[in-house]
Amino acid sequence: MKSGLYKKILTQIPEGVLILDKDFNVVFANDWFKKVTKKDVIEGKVNEFLENYYYDNTEDEYAIRKFDIVVDNEKLAVKVNTKKVDDGYVVMISLLKECICLDVIHNDFISTVSHEMRTPLTSMKGFIDTILSAGDKLDASQKDRFLKIVKQQIERLTRLVENLLTVSRLENKKIKDVYKSLNVIDLSKIVVDELKSKHPNHIFVVIENNNVSNILADYDKAHQVLTNLIDNAAKYSQKNTTIEIKAQNKPDNDFVEISIKDQGIGIPQEYIGKIFSKFLRIDNPLTREVQGTGLGLYITKTLIDSMGGVISVESELDKGTTFSVDWPVATTESQAKKRFLQDAVK
Ligand code: ATP
Ligand code: MG
Repeated sequence: MKSGLYKKILTQIPEGVLILDKDFNVVFANDWFKKVTKKDVIEGKVNEFLENYYYDNTEDEYAIRKFDIVVDNEKLAVKVNTKKVDDGYVVMISLLKECICLDVIHNDFISTVSHEMRTPLTSMKGFIDTILSAGDKLDASQKDRFLKIVKQQIERLTRLVENLLTVSRLENKKIKDVYKSLNVIDLSKIVVDELKSKHPNHIFVVIENNNVSNILADYDKAHQVLTNLIDNAAKYSQKNTTIEIKAQNKPDNDFVEISIKDQGIGIPQEYIGKIFSKFLRIDNPLTREVQGTGLGLYITKTLIDSMGGVISVESELDKGTTFSVDWPVATTESQAKKRFLQDAVK
């Protein structure tokens, strides 16, 4: 590579780069460094700037230090990495705002997941300890009840791990889509048949409509979206209530709207905006009764977003909730485009 090109890359790189000679004279400062330190011209010795930020890193030559620098009376958290080279120093400086923010999100996530896992583990340990220590004093039906609780907790953990894996695959974009033209009413009927045994006391109604266009979607993703929404509709409504699923073309014929309407407990207004966040569960006697990880709606929204759809929700407390999904219609053109894009990334 030509040296001019190196200089251009160094100048424009979105990290602060400062090159000093062995006496701390500035040899080069890139645009980002000048912008963050608000110094148009950096010349001469930079001891006044660096005396606080340079440290001898001979022990660990890639050591990174975090500092607060003051620029125009504003404190900025930066990460400084100083590397001694033959006849001088290379100083890399980056703002920590983004890194800290990611750290916080990461830590929050780990602490929530650990908490979610600890609850079933503690409960299982308690029951197993009782069976082991007082096994001979328990009758068969008590033992049976305890083992059933342990099994439930194992199922809860399995669901949590499966959902976490789905979240991780989705966030790392590891799921390969195969787009197909699908009839959303037929798919809803399949999902309802699968869920009926889980919710035998609910009434599911899929409204027929022959005028609905096919949607363009990945079968597995569409199946999971409908399963999560229809399962929620039954989980958060009392027995013997009705869940109605209907689909219709939107006026411009670009989207099909599918709605899942229940007569359940409803979602309080203050939660509507947060309902698609990870691990959100609204406390309620019925929610406490039914198990859940609080990841279903987050996964659902991420799946719908990835297929170019839009999800929305309307709800009235103690009356019911309707989740609606606007799904792109499968036209000859949209299918050809998707196929072309899929082939292009192969
Ligand atoms: P899972 O991850 O197993 O699906 P979950 O059902 O608790 O667990 P979500 O599907 O993400 O998680 O739903 C989040 C929360 O939103 C639920 O715990 C419930 O409080 C509320 N909720 C979801 N759907 C409905 C609904 N149709 N009616 C009322 N509340 C709902
Ligand atoms: Mg759910």
